[in-house]
Amino acid sequence: MPTKDRYDVVIVGAGAMGLASAYHLIDRRPELSILVVDARAGPGEGSMGASAAMVRDVFSSSDNRQLAQSSIAFYRHLMDEHEELQGPSPLLDLYGYLWLLPERYLNEYRDLVRGSGGALDARMIELSDLRSCPGLDPTPARWFEGDTAAPPDAIAGGLFGRNCGAVAPEMLANFYFAAARARGVEFAFDLWAQRLSFEGREGLLLHEPSKLPYSFQDHVEGRLRIARVVFGDGTSVRTDRVIVAAGAWAEHLLHPVGIATACSPRPELLFSVSGREVDRLLAWTPPVDPIDAPAGRPRLPFLILPTGATMKPIFGEQRIWIGAVDHVAHPIGTREDPATESGLDYRADRLGDREAFATDVLPAVTPYFPGFDTTGLRLERSWGGYYHFSPEGLPVLTEEACGVIFIGGDSGSGVMKADSIGRLVAALYDGACEARLFPGGAYRLDRLSLHRRAVEEERIIL
Ligand SMILES: Cc1cc2nc3c(=O)[nH]c(=O)nc-3n(C[C@H](O)[C@H](O)[C@H](O)COP(=O)(O)OP(=O)(O)OC[C@H]3O[C@@H](n4cnc5c(N)ncnc54)[C@H](O)[C@@H]3O)c2cc1C
Repeated sequence: MPTKDRYDVVIVGAGAMGLASAYHLIDRRPELSILVVDARAGPGEGSMGASAAMVRDVFSSSDNRQLAQSSIAFYRHLMDEHEELQGPSPLLDLYGYLWLLPERYLNEYRDLVRGSGGALDARMIELSDLRSCPGLDPTPARWFEGDTAAPPDAIAGGLFGRNCGAVAPEMLANFYFAAARARGVEFAFDLWAQRLSFEGREGLLLHEPSKLPYSFQDHVEGRLRIARVVFGDGTSVRTDRVIVAAGAWAEHLLHPVGIATACSPRPELLFSVSGREVDRLLAWTPPVDPIDAPAGRPRLPFLILPTGATMKPIFGEQRIWIGAVDHVAHPIGTREDPATESGLDYRADRLGDREAFATDVLPAVTPYFPGFDTTGLRLERSWGGYYHFSPEGLPVLTEEACGVIFIGGDSGSGVMKADSIGRLVAALYDGACEARLFPGGAYRLDRLSLHRRAVEEERIIL
């Protein structure tokens, strides 16, 4: 529970973005009293804990690319600095992404690499080089038995991204948590931030019984500021700066005080499978040259099929995690209803809809890997979290005159950009116009704002 009655700033959410924000804010402003609250029992237990936690810099948007490259470089730097992050299972493992591409995307991806002027460490792979992939059928004849639609696109080649791989989310969360706490940031877990309140601010007129301000005060400069954060257990702390890094649940806190985010949460699922076909695929030595290759041998990369289905190798466990971004099978919105639950009853396993594996996911995989039918595969576990989608697939970072900073809109790639985002949030809090990325380079903060947004749409969302 919070130990003080008042903090300079309260961060709501100890997920990827809230943790990195706390870390960089205390680094930049060591004198601040900072409280981080999270409804979960520990750091990184929201969507971050449900995530595939992959990292890549292959994005169509140069903003996403910069944010990811800076974060990946910083995660590698952390490993170099801290021996405990090097192994036995490392914080960052850049074993690569392999996009299996149909003809119509080959040129687009080729142009992306060329157009990056060397910023992207990626290369095209010939179809003939992919033929050694066990179980892969590059030219599927149908979606599934009995379906009459035209078959899915044939694979015409591939793109291998080298500055791509996996991060260990619990290691990352624990690093930020421990480092921020060691510098004086206070954390309160199992604590639900119920509402942002204007109550108690001197001179501010509030309606009864809603306790919301008379709206004319919006035009009185400096009057309309948040005064406290009220928790689900009825307690509260005073503050006049709040950073909302609440992921998919941000709107529950922001909409009641009139703050729009333009973002929407959607459940996204992962399925852990094992079996004969998984073993065969994991044994493949692919014709690629990853940055990290223990014993000098390339391993199965993270595979992206033309249908958008993804396959993440879990080395040492003989498992693969399968996912497929879903825009239709599960409606927009969080399944939890904090208003009636007076807390956050989020359970990753409960979101994991096992039936969706057969109905929505396998049909996107089996045309290319026919052995991944029910006989070659065991479904061991399913779970889910949320993607918090922004309209263009890039993060949203806004500051409201009432003292609230909102960061969200991860669009399914928030772990791989979290460090940069933390830098941006700290700079925005400090009144700066730009932030320094890692290891160098400036990034203008208003590019991600809602009012002066200047980003191109991201086309590669996995
Ligand atoms: C299936 C799946 C696969 C994914 N794969 C990847 C991937 O490969 N790579 C990648 O980079 N990203 C991936 N993501 C996305 C990634 O999980 C998110 O981008 C990331 O977690 C966003 O971080 P966040 O801090 O905004 O949200 P979260 O990690 O969800 O953190 C928000 C925190 O806020 C807390 N909270 C919310 N409201 C309140 C409140 N009112 N009071 C107190 N606490 C509150 C929650 O408990 C939570 O801990 C995936 C997500 C899913 C679901």
